[in-house]
Amino acid sequence: MLHVKNLTFSYNKIPVLKDISFKAHTGEHIAIIGESGSGKSTLLKVLYGEYDLDKGHIFWKDEAILGPKYNLVIGYDFMKYVAQEFDLMPYITVEENIGKFLSRFYPEEKEQRTAELLKVVELTKFAKTKVKTLSGGQKQRVALARALAKQPEIILLDEPFSHIDNFKKQSLRRSVFKYLKNKNITCIVATHDKEDVLGFADKMIVLNDNKIAVNDAPETLYKNPKTPLIASFFGEFNIINKKIVYAHQLQVVEHSKLKATVKQSYFKGHYYLIEAELNAETLFFEHYQNLEKETVIYLSIEKNNL
Ligand code: ADP
Ligand code: MG
Repeated sequence: MLHVKNLTFSYNKIPVLKDISFKAHTGEHIAIIGESGSGKSTLLKVLYGEYDLDKGHIFWKDEAILGPKYNLVIGYDFMKYVAQEFDLMPYITVEENIGKFLSRFYPEEKEQRTAELLKVVELTKFAKTKVKTLSGGQKQRVALARALAKQPEIILLDEPFSHIDNFKKQSLRRSVFKYLKNKNITCIVATHDKEDVLGFADKMIVLNDNKIAVNDAPETLYKNPKTPLIASFFGEFNIINKKIVYAHQLQVVEHSKLKATVKQSYFKGHYYLIEAELNAETLFFEHYQNLEKETVIYLSIEKNNL
């Protein structure tokens, strides 16, 4: 279990992380979310032991994770960290980059393990390619495979799929997260992408104002988003009578008290996102078809339509 107790950290004088406490059980998948600059990357670096804490403690099982003041070499064998800016060895192949961390005394095992990891990150075809010729997304996948090479007990991933195009993202995400669950590897993922969270994370920690705003199951937070910040993570929403209402919870009806005027329709695939005006305020709802500008419509809130 990872145990973070009252962690406070500042680069200069002003704390970037204030009084952070949470736990991650073995095999659990925790997502750290928050706006850009909220301290997600800093938190992962601190967990990795890259910096000394101002206050607090971090434990993995019974072992304290300590910063550079106490450790000559940063990092621990049981923990791997894939930074937002991954550093690979450009002049050797993908296969060699991954194998670098595996024992050369067992060539057969090394080969098998490398092949397995290449499959997880969907790079089998690129095994013999020199890293310097890869795209950003491909390099990111090599960095992931390399972190997994010597099976860690816990892995820290910073925006792990940010450089990967949408064509590959979904399947890669499933492949990597499935692998981590199967191997019972604890994983802490910093992200601003809800696709990295929904369907995968057991818990979702929202960072805001240097603190943990909430820490709960994504489903719980989705169904009852306590703040606009949390709601905005899940999608378009409105505040109607002081309540958060997702765009898909609004339905066009024949008549209601919510009378709005259509301003714009956006094609979104299986629905249109409609921008409308209600009492001089902008409102969003989803609709099965395009609506003409200036059409007057009535809306009702479907409370159960979460
Ligand atoms: P996120 O990953 O959520 O975008 P970061 O952890 O990168 O946020 O940054 C959190 C805050 O810490 C930001 O205000 C950023 O400017 C600051 N920061 C990040 N790295 C450093 C650093 N090495 N030195 C000083 N300030 C930093
Ligand atoms: Mg970051």
